[in-house]
Amino acid sequence: MNIPYNKPYITGNELAYIEAAIKEGTISGDGNYTRKCQQLLQQRYGFKQCLLTTSCTDALELAALLLGVGPGDEVIVPSYTFVSSANAFILRGAKVLFADSAADSPNIDPESIRSLITPNTKVIVVVHYAGIPCDMDAINALAKHHGIYVVEDAAHALDAYYKGAPAGALGTMAAFSFHATKNVIAGEGGLLVINDSQFADRAEVLREKGTNRAAFLRGEIDKYEWVDTGSSFSPSELNAAFLYAQLEQLDVIQKRRLHLWNRYYNGLRMLQLSQQAQLPMVHDYIKHSAHVFYLVCANADERIALIDHLKSHGIQAVFHYLSLHQSPYYLQQHESVQLPHTQHYAHCLVRLPLYFDLADEQVDYIVGKVLEFYG
Ligand SMILES: *Cc1c(COP(=O)(O)O)cnc(C)c1O
Repeated sequence: MNIPYNKPYITGNELAYIEAAIKEGTISGDGNYTRKCQQLLQQRYGFKQCLLTTSCTDALELAALLLGVGPGDEVIVPSYTFVSSANAFILRGAKVLFADSAADSPNIDPESIRSLITPNTKVIVVVHYAGIPCDMDAINALAKHHGIYVVEDAAHALDAYYKGAPAGALGTMAAFSFHATKNVIAGEGGLLVINDSQFADRAEVLREKGTNRAAFLRGEIDKYEWVDTGSSFSPSELNAAFLYAQLEQLDVIQKRRLHLWNRYYNGLRMLQLSQQAQLPMVHDYIKHSAHVFYLVCANADERIALIDHLKSHGIQAVFHYLSLHQSPYYLQQHESVQLPHTQHYAHCLVRLPLYFDLADEQVDYIVGKVLEFYG
């Protein structure tokens, strides 16, 4: 038995669509497949504006540019996340303040956000960890009260919902990832969703090197010019063609992943009941995206032992983020801060294999080996 942590799922139409893009003669950005992907996502989730980008990292950087983040601004970011959630704002010269996770979830704790807000706070970044949306009512209430923008790093959260609203529609803007490790993939790829229409026109311009090429492509103007600052954010049609083949299968992919996730949950529930390990917490008003199935061990040694036990049975289980507030980059310029919940997840969280082609029997086998470990 050899079960990797992840295996990218290929739907079968990727090559045909890439070939069609080549035959059409458009392989740079913003051709048919980019439009088709954007339209599909816009219609499915009711997002106001969807712009494909070359990555989620790129989408976050575009968000930081659009929000006018700069020196003197403060941005509150969870410490338990990928570096891109923070980097995008540090690149603009802002000061990043790291917030703690909640006690019962790796998601950002609204109370920790509250304690970090100052008159200089410009943006709150939320990360819907494992595709389970954050406590958005509390976070949006804080943001509204203080006039702060909210950016969702929704890299895990395509097709997740919070009280009936899709992840991506819960903040001022949202960034998604189609990296090969996510549920729906393009190799590398991302999406910026814009929910506040005051940013809509400028978003197109900044994404197109500071030109009004998007309006030109729609036939609204007869030549395109340099009208603002900007950079290159649009992916090649080859990636968009690949992505469209994936998006067409979104329901199939999500159904399978949710099925596997629930099988893990039901199989391992007794560990939660016996308080031996903490399982993901999903409130009844949440529909999660089944991006990650994790459990949280009692301590760091137990996690190492569990990963080793699974490895000896051919199962690749992996830990996840290291705390950003404890990273060499951050510590070389800031005082160390105490974020106990973040540290707990950084030391104790384990992810189990989860991918489309994983068989039910393999999940049962993994569940059996985890239960064996806990006796
Ligand atoms: C994957 C991921 C990213 C980066 O996505 P890319 O598309 O690789 O840039 C950012 N944030 C989170 C939370 C992620 O999981």
